[in-house]
Amino acid sequence: SAPDTAALLRCLNPEQRAAVTLPNGHALVLAGAGSGKTRVLTTRIAWLLHTGQASPGSILAVTFTNKAAKEMLTRLGAMLPVAVRGMWIGTFHGLCNRLLRIHHHAAGLPQTFHILDTQDQLAAIKRLCKQFGVDEERFPPKQVQYFIAGCKEEGRRPRDVAGIDPDTRKKVELYQLYEEQCQREGVVDFGELMLRSYELLRDNDPLRAHYQRRFAHILVDEFQDTNRLQYLWLKQLAGDEVDGQLHTHASVIAVGDDDQSIYAFRGARVGNMQDFLREFDVQQQIKLEQNYRSYSNILDAANQLISHNSRRLGKNLRTEQGPGEPVRVYEAVSDLAEAQWMADEIRQLLQSDQLRHQEIAVLYRSNAQSRVIESALFNARIPYRVYGGLRFFERAEIKHALAYLRLLENPHDDTSFMRVVNFPPRGIGARSVEVLQDSARSSGCSLHDAVSLVPGSAGAKLNQFVALVEVLSEQMQGENLRTIIDQMLHASGLLAHYRADKDGADRVENLEELVNAGESFVTLEGFGRDAVALPVDEHGVATTTLPDFVDGDTGETLSPLAAFLTHAALEAGDNQAQAGQEAVQLMTVHASKGLEFDCVFIGGLEEGLFPHDQSVGERDGLEEERRLMYVAITRARQRLYLSHAQTRMLHGQTRYNEKSRFFQELPDSALKWLTPQRSGFGSFAPRASQGSSYGGYSAYSKGSAGSKTETFASPPVPVQKATPSHGLRAGTAVFHTKFGEGKVLAIEGTGDDARAHVHFGRHGSKWLALAVAKLTIVS
Ligand code: ATP
Ligand code: MG
Repeated sequence: SAPDTAALLRCLNPEQRAAVTLPNGHALVLAGAGSGKTRVLTTRIAWLLHTGQASPGSILAVTFTNKAAKEMLTRLGAMLPVAVRGMWIGTFHGLCNRLLRIHHHAAGLPQTFHILDTQDQLAAIKRLCKQFGVDEERFPPKQVQYFIAGCKEEGRRPRDVAGIDPDTRKKVELYQLYEEQCQREGVVDFGELMLRSYELLRDNDPLRAHYQRRFAHILVDEFQDTNRLQYLWLKQLAGDEVDGQLHTHASVIAVGDDDQSIYAFRGARVGNMQDFLREFDVQQQIKLEQNYRSYSNILDAANQLISHNSRRLGKNLRTEQGPGEPVRVYEAVSDLAEAQWMADEIRQLLQSDQLRHQEIAVLYRSNAQSRVIESALFNARIPYRVYGGLRFFERAEIKHALAYLRLLENPHDDTSFMRVVNFPPRGIGARSVEVLQDSARSSGCSLHDAVSLVPGSAGAKLNQFVALVEVLSEQMQGENLRTIIDQMLHASGLLAHYRADKDGADRVENLEELVNAGESFVTLEGFGRDAVALPVDEHGVATTTLPDFVDGDTGETLSPLAAFLTHAALEAGDNQAQAGQEAVQLMTVHASKGLEFDCVFIGGLEEGLFPHDQSVGERDGLEEERRLMYVAITRARQRLYLSHAQTRMLHGQTRYNEKSRFFQELPDSALKWLTPQRSGFGSFAPRASQGSSYGGYSAYSKGSAGSKTETFASPPVPVQKATPSHGLRAGTAVFHTKFGEGKVLAIEGTGDDARAHVHFGRHGSKWLALAVAKLTIVS
């Protein structure tokens, strides 16, 4: 039974309620982290539907990730007995995809157009550069990719980009060639999804009018991270501009937090907020100031940190929750020791605090940091899950499998053709492929069609490959997805290839998982025109939000395989993956936006890493890093741990890092140092070899609340911080837990900085930091 309106609004504070029940018109909700912005959006949709002011079909809501869209649908489903299917709730990419599938004809695309993720796009650009003999030193494909993406984000086609210098002119030319290649192959990259659907509406008056009338309510989450084109896209859906005056049909409600704008490098524009206020003549601005997520120690840390940024729109955040636990800070000797400490701490939290795995998150600035943390968790037998980085649909073996599937859908997909023509290896050399590419180019056809033009044994092998795909394609007509995927894995030789590889077990497992993914991707029936394949979870609940990829003119819909491939491409482009199971969540700070966890670890808080090298030079860069840190801190509900390491292996080099300047920007009163604070590491001696000693303070006690520095329960070493000699001198015989017996050669430095040069028989001589090395004197 439907709830009454009061029940819907009961769990909101007065400001939130005001935002939810705003009369039609445009509004901006500007509010800090955890103040309920997302909750306000969801509840507003529920309220509009419940009070009969809106039908599901008249709502369009933009979320930042697919996961957030699903969550919104789940919550709506729980609040109201509504058919959520008619609602357009999704990411910009997801919504654009939907629009283009429906109107593919008007957009000049095949209905089965394939979406290139970032990797595919780079591969396509490389192929192009090769084909046109572009000097890759002068025009690195990555740069070309960045250039093209940047142009598209600003809504510019090659003809709109003025090339003043020869280099830019060359890039514009490549952009043009790339567009032609994509069009020929029927593929679309992420930027193109946005731009193409923007142009579709712009150039098609009846279509635009139709959607303007349809979407009476447009709601946007994480508005601070929209880019220029996304803003223009929204504006166009909302109404037309006449004589510089915007006449809107829809009510647009945007929620955001300027302090959480972290995608400037991808074209996000905080300026969209000001533009929105002005161009939409926004009458309603609402601030939410109560944070419902975090205890005050955590919130104080976040507030104080972000107060160091200069250009802010200005907001306050308070909480009615008590101070909670202090924010714990740990200094590790090395990245390995940091990871080990995290694993130890997490084990404790799981055991004594009974926290659930998925309520613990480890956040880091760069993906490269995850490897060490993963191995520590793995060794500690703590299940974990990495978000971002290489997601399921981006893994090499999965991409190979998807390439075969795409060829089943469309044999003229050259990107896929190139990927698997000789994978698994079937004796088709690079030379043969070049001949094939040349033939395709000179006769203006796809690689598939050019195969018959290649003479000799190379031609015969290529023909076999094409025949393999064709036969499979015929056999699979009318089969269900599971069977298609399963058969493809066998017929292509992929499964056998990875089974034969002694390190291939994980990959085989992933391929099997793909079969499962196909199985759970079932076709829903009974929705007439709307009937289409939908991915479902283990409870049979649809996990995607964009079901009706139906041709607006013909009613034609995608095959389950094509729908599945679309789903895979969109998932790969998302910043987050599926909802977590019983596993600790590892992710970059970027990927953590909008999420919350009981307990959060932020590692690698070192100068050069966080804030990142590349950004500290400029003020804008540093402020963006600080916003990132603000996002990271505000993910935590109950507990927050910060850590840094003195040395870290990054990109094959050991780096000696000072702790992050952000520590100085946090309130002392909210912090608790688990390790003695150092003033800096200027005098810290490089150790003889990487990883020569670590383990650090594995035995600190948790009992000394109140003091900032925790004492060590029973250190195995009589190392005292303040004594200059540590009881050691040249000649002392010592024992080290890892290197065994040794003899001190020299001592340098005092206090925390003291280090010893010790000779260990088999292990040679090493420099050890006495404050951390586990040395015992052998008497
Ligand atoms: P972010 O900026 O991180 O995206 P947000 O402003 O979107 O945060 P929400 O995620 O909507 O915040 O809310 C934060 C948490 O507070 C959620 O767990 C939400 O359920 C809870 N919450 C929000 N409003 C209330 C309220 N009035 N009473 C109780 N809990 C609330
Ligand atoms: Mg939110």
